[in-house]
Amino acid sequence: LEPADWIDASHARVCDPRRLTHLREVHRAAPGDSLTVGALDGAIGRGELLTLTASEALFHVPALDREPPAPLPVHLLLALPRPRMLARSLEHIAALGVKQLTLLHTRRVEKSYWQSPELRPDKIHQHLMLGLEQARDTRLPEVTLETRFKPFVEDRLPALLAGRRGLIAHPGMPQACPRGIDEPTLLAIGPEGGFVDYEVTRFEEAGCEGVHLGERILRVETAVTALLARLF
Ligand code: SAM
Repeated sequence: LEPADWIDASHARVCDPRRLTHLREVHRAAPGDSLTVGALDGAIGRGELLTLTASEALFHVPALDREPPAPLPVHLLLALPRPRMLARSLEHIAALGVKQLTLLHTRRVEKSYWQSPELRPDKIHQHLMLGLEQARDTRLPEVTLETRFKPFVEDRLPALLAGRRGLIAHPGMPQACPRGIDEPTLLAIGPEGGFVDYEVTRFEEAGCEGVHLGERILRVETAVTALLARLF
């Protein structure tokens, strides 16, 4: 439930057509049902669906008393993928518990991708919300856009690596991606055409370890899911 949905401390009204469709068609919800609900950036609990029409759903939410699932301690640096792939990747990233995401320009990112409507804050929010709802999480990831590679690696990367282990996923690296991390980690994933050598070198010079995920070359959204699931 988003802040604007709350009518009072224990009642909420959802009017967003996408979420109403989701309630009807995915959850097959009906008045009287008890559903897991959560306050955006807050706790989760059980709520009762009081009414469900084409234009609104009314909930009674007596108590939100549980914490959402633990976040994944990964700051994900993702070279901006094509818009359709970005939308799906955002959903997976939110569902897998990433709370910090930087979308980065690299040599093989098409400049036109930065003009995509999928990068509008409302669209990013919508894709992240789909992932959060799926995972019964409430904490939205923070998303930063870095449209220039060189200033990013020179000025911002060192600060991001302070107190974090840095990994750059790149096929053919000698070291396999670690499994099940419990330390804060920065993971860089490349664009459809991969990182160029210069970019790999800059990450390595900054202290990142190159890691591979086996000999299969995965498309970006598959790599995002496989790498994050491996770090889980
Ligand atoms: N031809 C490109 C290359 O060799 O780098 C393929 C890029 S792949 C479609 C997109 C990104 O997913 C890569 O830059 C990398 O970060 C990640 N990735 C995909 N498969 C991988 C693998 N087997 N090992 C490590 N990273 C991988």
